[in-house]
Amino acid sequence: MTIHTIQLPDMKKTILTLTLLILAVSLVTAQKKITNLPDLPGYVTLKCDFHLHTVFSDGQVWPLNRVDEAIRDGLDAISITDHLEYTPKKDFIPVDHNAAWKLCEAYAQERNLILVHGTEITRKMPPGHFNALFIKDANLIAKDSVWDNFEEVIKQGGFLQWNHPGWKAQEPDGIPKLYDMHKRLIKNGWLHGIELYNDASHYPLVFSFCEENNITLIGNSDVHGIISERYKEPEHRPMTLVFAKERSHDSLKEAMFAGRTMVYFGEKLAGREEFAKPFFYQCVAVRKPYYQNDKTIFFEVTNKSDVPFYLVNGVKDAPAAITLEANSVTRVAVSKKVTSPLVYDVNNVITGEKKILQIELKY
Ligand code: ZN
Repeated sequence: MTIHTIQLPDMKKTILTLTLLILAVSLVTAQKKITNLPDLPGYVTLKCDFHLHTVFSDGQVWPLNRVDEAIRDGLDAISITDHLEYTPKKDFIPVDHNAAWKLCEAYAQERNLILVHGTEITRKMPPGHFNALFIKDANLIAKDSVWDNFEEVIKQGGFLQWNHPGWKAQEPDGIPKLYDMHKRLIKNGWLHGIELYNDASHYPLVFSFCEENNITLIGNSDVHGIISERYKEPEHRPMTLVFAKERSHDSLKEAMFAGRTMVYFGEKLAGREEFAKPFFYQCVAVRKPYYQNDKTIFFEVTNKSDVPFYLVNGVKDAPAAITLEANSVTRVAVSKKVTSPLVYDVNNVITGEKKILQIELKY
């Protein structure tokens, strides 16, 4: 065998070097957005989207692109959940309900993204659509009867999530309802999560379903097209914030079953008070007064998070409303006439079907 060494003219060499350099750089600099959503004491906050589609059902993108999109959005975990019963591209792409998982498993691992093996059970209402998360084999879940679907998910140790329960295509009034099959699932302890938020729809009643039956609150994008087209900057995709003991697949699973989540959509957060309150105080710090005169005390409030907070219903003589912009310091002037604690309702932090968070600014 002869090895030919080709001498390139200098210009060509430079172009080649540049091309190689660009290739090398692009391999190591897939950019990851920094999202300012703090951890809770004792837990790490994992930013997750557990409802995504690809060309393996009715989505428009290849599975690996879902991983890239998630990294760009600064997420910690995703699940690709293609429909078991709806594979409109089957004439062009062979049906394997585990294909997205197989394609992405190593790819996600190399990029430090937690990939959750998932699929979507797609039925008429009742019972509607369900994601099966943390499963082992989606092909085994594809069965004729929906109850057999559910049984197999449970057999695999999976997490069953009821999707968009008030989806207008299935519930014309947009209001989620617990049918007999849902009650049966709850009775068995098989209904682990419900989407309070999906794509652009908020189902406030889900908060009560979850509180009454010890079910985990979830929010997802359910995206079918390209994520950056669906949620244009500075918008962000809806996500589930999961409070895990550590940043790992198994810790994520433990936290999901334990119900340690909040839902982040638009400028709103929704979650049980036991998480929403410490989360607020991790985002917001009140500094000592820097100045006062005869009538007024001045202090600053720092909000280190991407979530603005809209404080309303101020006590007598205090500012009626204060907006704590995201990643900003807000100056507050309070009259010395105020004698009671500076308590506010946080208008965009939901802690129940008809409840919002109450906090106190202690300076
Ligand atoms: Zn879906």
